[in-house]
Amino acid sequence: MPEPECEEALDRLFEYIDHELPEEEIHRIGEHLKTCPPCEAEHKINEKIKRLVNQTRHETAPDALRQRVLDAIRATRETPA
Ligand SMILES: [Zn+2]
Repeated sequence: MPEPECEEALDRLFEYIDHELPEEEIHRIGEHLKTCPPCEAEHKINEKIKRLVNQTRHETAPDALRQRVLDAIRATRETPA
């Protein structure tokens, strides 16, 4: 069963990556990621996906590349942590 801190961190991961959270929450989640390898792994994966998606957008998105990103996201979701 995930710890409440993990649930919170994973819940806010995208906002954390986008820096859309109040300073104190960014700090709290950042501290949690430092001490919690499974959450940190999830954070790294999501950061990578976000970077890929952004690249895809900027490059006027060749469909093949976008499809690859979507497949990668799906694969990530289907793989248990
Ligand atoms: Zn955690």
